[in-house]
Amino acid sequence: MSISTLEEISCLCGEVFEVELLSAISVGDNPELKEALISGEINLAICPKCGQMFYAECFILYHDSKSELIAFVYPLSFQTQAAQCREKMYAEFSKAIANFEESEKKKINYEPLLIFGMEDLVLLLKAEQELEDEEMILARLAPALSLSVLKFAPALARKFSIPKVLPALKNAQGEADASSICEALKIVLKHNPNLTNYSKLYEKLSNNKNALDKAIINGGKKRS
Ligand SMILES: [Zn+2]
Repeated sequence: MSISTLEEISCLCGEVFEVELLSAISVGDNPELKEALISGEINLAICPKCGQMFYAECFILYHDSKSELIAFVYPLSFQTQAAQCREKMYAEFSKAIANFEESEKKKINYEPLLIFGMEDLVLLLKAEQELEDEEMILARLAPALSLSVLKFAPALARKFSIPKVLPALKNAQGEADASSICEALKIVLKHNPNLTNYSKLYEKLSNNKNALDKAIINGGKKRS
């Protein structure tokens, strides 16, 4: 589901024209819409006078149920009023949740994200897609290397800036800790050094074993 509105926008050249802009985007059951967004095709305006292409900024409510992501995207120019935007976001978020069915409410146990500008939304989605590609590779590679796979809920992983899928050493207690994850990452990266997101995490963990709190690790679900 998505909602579009007709908005009047102005180009730097002075031309004012109308464009149809999406103000609510729900990509849960519409992966094509997410693709279009990542390719920069959504809310892109082309000035009829000078041909300049730019993102037409309007408020967008972005929802991806599969990725557990609800983003309140304000126009870039609102960045100077970040505190007010945040306040408004929480007020509207709880209002929206209150109208949900009980079963739906339970599914949304994560915080909304505040974003300024279409470009930042597109960058976030692009980065998450690249990470997802690496996660898929890791999920296949880990068992082949006799490693365990830890899976995290998308919102939890986003909150702590970690991948949704982490490798761990198999051990008798069946418990994973930061050093077990670090060792497993080393093995994975030896086989595939191109997993840049995992390389970064490995570096971070090598420098600081406490970078992955035990509480975070316990939030993961162990597979195999
Ligand atoms: Zn123009």
